[in-house]
Amino acid sequence: MVDVSELVLDLATILRPHSSEVRQQALCALQAMFGIDQQSSDSPKRRPDLYSATWRKIRTTVLAEQGTTCRYCGVDCSDDPTVDHIRPVCSGVSPFEAGNFAVSCRRCNSVKGGREGWQKTP
Ligand SMILES: [Zn+2]
Repeated sequence: MVDVSELVLDLATILRPHSSEVRQQALCALQAMFGIDQQSSDSPKRRPDLYSATWRKIRTTVLAEQGTTCRYCGVDCSDDPTVDHIRPVCSGVSPFEAGNFAVSCRRCNSVKGGREGWQKTP
């Protein structure tokens, strides 16, 4: 059995000399790699952009323009639609960049995580 806390310590040592931007990207890549559910790991503190009035406005606009069909798997997610950043915010793009939004069901958005160019495999 691997001691996860040791791995985390190793990781912290590796990442320490890097800028906060690099650390955020590494974290994002790890989340994507291990399929960590963004929903449960996100808190308003960590991702304030997702809870701002600007974001709510964008979300409403995107849903009105694109409808509620998931861009990735094609299901109708009108009961619980999410708006995905096509280029993940952790890649450095602004969370409010126009044209970077895709309607996604919660499942696809969660699986996609911080990856760019993810496609659902049938
Ligand atoms: Zn989907």
